[in-house]
Amino acid sequence: QVQELKKYINKDTVTQDEKRVCLAANIGNAEDAVKAMESGAECVGLFRTEFLFMNGVSMPTEEEQFEVYKRAAVICKDKVLTIRTLDIGGDKDIPYMGLTKESNPFLGYRAIRFCLGRIDVFTTQLRAILRASAYGNIRIMLPLITGVSEVRSVRTILQNVMRELDSKEIPYDKDILLGVMIETPAACMLADILAKEADFFSIGTNDLTQYTIAVDRGNENVAYLYSAFHPAVLRSVKRIIECAKRENIEVGMCGEAAGNPAMIPLLLAFGLDEFSVTASKVLETRKNIASWTMKEAAAVTDTVMGMSTEKEVSAYLSDYIATKM
Ligand code: PEP
Ligand code: MG
Repeated sequence: QVQELKKYINKDTVTQDEKRVCLAANIGNAEDAVKAMESGAECVGLFRTEFLFMNGVSMPTEEEQFEVYKRAAVICKDKVLTIRTLDIGGDKDIPYMGLTKESNPFLGYRAIRFCLGRIDVFTTQLRAILRASAYGNIRIMLPLITGVSEVRSVRTILQNVMRELDSKEIPYDKDILLGVMIETPAACMLADILAKEADFFSIGTNDLTQYTIAVDRGNENVAYLYSAFHPAVLRSVKRIIECAKRENIEVGMCGEAAGNPAMIPLLLAFGLDEFSVTASKVLETRKNIASWTMKEAAAVTDTVMGMSTEKEVSAYLSDYIATKM
C-alpha cells in the first residue's frame, strides 16, 4: 500500500476529470516542513507556531522565532508557507505567559484575543515572520477571528511593524498576504464581509465544529456529538467557500476534516481550493481526490445536502466510500 501511494509523490492533485486543487500540509515545527515536502505537499497550509512557545520555559526571542520561520521558509522554497500567529489559550497553556484560569477557556482569552491584548508578544512575532518573509513565500494567518475589527487592528499593527523595518532597511515581502481562519460561527456568518478584508480564508473545522454544535472538542462525554458531518457544519462550510469565491479570494481547509475521505467529494463540489492535511496523510489524500470526478462529487453532495441529520450523512457517505474502494 505504501508502494502504491508512492506513485502519487510529486504529482499534481487532480480529480479523475482533471480538476486541479492544491494539496497542502499542516506542520508544527520547521522539521515537519521537511517531511511535508518529502511527502509531496504543494505548500504548507498551516504552521502551528504555538509549539515553539509551548516547548520552552520562556518566550522565544524575535531572533529565535526568526530562525525557525526562516528555516521553514527555506525548506519550502518557492512553495507557500502559511504561518499562523500564536494560538494559545483554550486547551493550550503556556505557563510563563501568566494566563489566568478561566471557567470557559474555549470562550475566553485565546488566540487573536490574546495577541491583540499582548501587543508586545504579537509585534515580536509579526516582526520575526516579516523578516523571514524575505527568504521564502510566506503568508500570515490569524486564528479565531470573530469580526472585521480584529482584522483591521492587525493590519494597523502590521503596517507599523513594516514601517519600522523600512526605517532600518530590513528586507521583507511588502506584498505579504494576510488571511483569516474561519473557525467560529461569527466568522462564518460574516464571511461575505470578511472576504473583502482578508487576502485568503482557511476553514478550521476542528474549532468550527466545536463552536457550531456547542460541543467541547476535548470532552469525552459529548464526543459522540462532535462531527464535521453535522448538517449545520456542512452548511457553514458551503457558505464560507461561496463567500470566498464571490470575492475571488482563495479558500482552504486546515481542520482534520480536509483529510477525511468522506468529506472530499463535498469539498470538491463546494469548490475548495486548498486541502491542508497532516504530512502523513498527503499522499493518501491525493489518491482519494484522484478517485472522484466532479460530476460524481456533485451528485453525492446534492444527496448529502438534502439530508437532515448527522447520522444519515455519515451512514450514507461511509457506505458510498466503501463501494468505491
Ligand atoms: C482548527 O481549529 O480546525 C484548526 C486547524 O486549528 P487548531 O486545531 O490548531 O485549533
Ligand atoms: Mg482552531
